[in-house]
Amino acid sequence: MVPKTLDTDILILGSGGAGLFAALHANKAAPELSVTVAVKGLLGKCGCTRMVQGGYNVALAREDSVERHFMDTIQGGAWLSDQELAWKLVTLAVERIRELENELGCFFDRNPDGTVHQKAFAGQTFDRTVHKGDLTGIEIINRLAEQVWARNIGRLEEHRAVELIKDSSAKSIAGVLFIDMRTGEYVFVRAKAVLLATGGGPTMYRYHTPSGDKSCDGLAMAMRAGLPLRDMEMVQFHPTGLLAGTHTRMTGTVLEEGLRGAGGYLLNGAKERFMPRYDPKAERATRDLVSRAMFTEMRKGNVSPHGGLYLAMSHLGAHEVRRQFKGMVERCADCGFDLAGGMVEVVPTAHYMMGGVEFAADCTTALPGLYVAGEDSGGVHGANRLGGNGVANSTVFGAVAGDEMAAWVKTASLREPDRAAIDAAIAFCERPFRGGPAVSLEPLRERLYGVMWDKVGILRDAASLQQAQAELKEIDMALDTYALPNATREFNLTWHDWLNLKSLVAVSRAITLAATARRESRGAHFRSDFPQSGSLEQSAYTSITDSIVSMKPVSFSRVAPGQSLLRHVA
Ligand SMILES: Cc1cc2nc3c(=O)[nH]c(=O)nc-3n(C[C@H](O)[C@H](O)[C@H](O)COP(=O)(O)OP(=O)(O)OC[C@H]3O[C@@H](n4cnc5c(N)ncnc54)[C@H](O)[C@@H]3O)c2cc1C
Repeated sequence: MVPKTLDTDILILGSGGAGLFAALHANKAAPELSVTVAVKGLLGKCGCTRMVQGGYNVALAREDSVERHFMDTIQGGAWLSDQELAWKLVTLAVERIRELENELGCFFDRNPDGTVHQKAFAGQTFDRTVHKGDLTGIEIINRLAEQVWARNIGRLEEHRAVELIKDSSAKSIAGVLFIDMRTGEYVFVRAKAVLLATGGGPTMYRYHTPSGDKSCDGLAMAMRAGLPLRDMEMVQFHPTGLLAGTHTRMTGTVLEEGLRGAGGYLLNGAKERFMPRYDPKAERATRDLVSRAMFTEMRKGNVSPHGGLYLAMSHLGAHEVRRQFKGMVERCADCGFDLAGGMVEVVPTAHYMMGGVEFAADCTTALPGLYVAGEDSGGVHGANRLGGNGVANSTVFGAVAGDEMAAWVKTASLREPDRAAIDAAIAFCERPFRGGPAVSLEPLRERLYGVMWDKVGILRDAASLQQAQAELKEIDMALDTYALPNATREFNLTWHDWLNLKSLVAVSRAITLAATARRESRGAHFRSDFPQSGSLEQSAYTSITDSIVSMKPVSFSRVAPGQSLLRHVA
């Protein structure tokens, strides 16, 4: 039984760049509609868009072009991107950055001549990353949140979405079931259109960067709703995660890409620079290549005191490093490292999921009424996301989703939900309240971290993936018999931790299945038993529905391998 039911025209799950842009665009396109943003944390204070450091990729300079940005994105993604999605990304990024500056009030760094400053990011042939110092996300999210607060947009904060509920004929979405985390009550929100924008987040790995509120809930809900997910094996590891010991949550947090872009060196335990041995672009190679080279060095045992490697910037001049990377210098100092004048211990860290819900360029999914945008979606980045394309992705497609939903709901009506599905979802959430001996969730979390890092991480093979699948099943079964030590529902964070782990294990199993199916190495996915990349002309993406993986051909709708949209082939 659901004690509370609410109705809204448009329901948005998540308040990152995708969710907030969708809310503003839907409200602007059709102010008469009711728009509600429901979010696990506090609006403007949670999710990863707020954590964006380096910046936003967009072709603004006269010498740059959207074609060049597109080619960098496609080549960086090892030809697995959906080209129509990538094209939309690079073309609409120009509109979104203008909107952020001129309508929403963001200040980005500028050159002395007044033009927007654009810095170097790895894997790109042009310096096109717009930024606000090295803490760009705070500027973007603060301005977006202010605009949402100022408008007639409903908010359900600390409301955790737990199930997408279809209508009684199971043909379209009817709404979403939530737990109001403050009271522990269940709330059902009926909506004509729902946007999934919960931001993915590979927090199932020992070292990871995303915020703690992200536990792949959206992807787990989409899977349970029978939606196909693509490229789930493609998990991006950022090369420079801070490594400061097991006692601090700072371990795993990211030191931004611009440090390597500006000329930072990676050194092994013997303090030797090793990247030139792995790739001609050295530290400025794409994230997948750098992370793999680092992992290979670490496996040789040539490591720093905490088992990682070093990032060194001092050869660029301590004063200049302090000037350009104030936020990063302070973050490192908090952990006892001198970024400007010394060396910082780093480790590759799970950062981003290129995979996600399959969607069309108008953000629709296979379930009528359900839209997806941002890191919950798959297909934009292919096998590897370029640094700076993440926040561009969430803002571009968030805005598209807002416009499209506003148009669609004008002809749609509220639908009656499948009551049995609501009851089943509540029964699922209530499982840990059935009583039993109280144990800690920590050993299960540690086991999940270890399985994913060691067996489904930067290097994988058939044997490790098979072992991982068996262990993930065991962890899932252990969670199913778990009993909560405390039966109160108000702000019961252990309960939410249990729900987080259930989502993470479900999505980990999908990652493992997709990684098993891709018998080649491509972008972020490296199989030591299949180290070759396979034919680019025969590129296929993985598509997983109901635990069955199929390989589907990539459509080279704009450019084929060996060709370029640029006049002279790059
Ligand atoms: C440390 C860090 C630095 C980064 N730096 C850059 C960079 O420099 N450039 C770049 O392009 N990208 C960067 N990224 C990636 C970028 O942050 C993401 O690509 C992008 O912001 C994702 O936006 P989103 O709206 O999809 O998700 P998010 O911004 O993560 O928002 C997700 C929202 O969903 C909510 N949510 C989650 N689960 C639920 C649930 N069950 N119910 C309700 N709400 C839920 C969350 O609370 C949050 O509000 C960085 C990421 C990190 C972690």
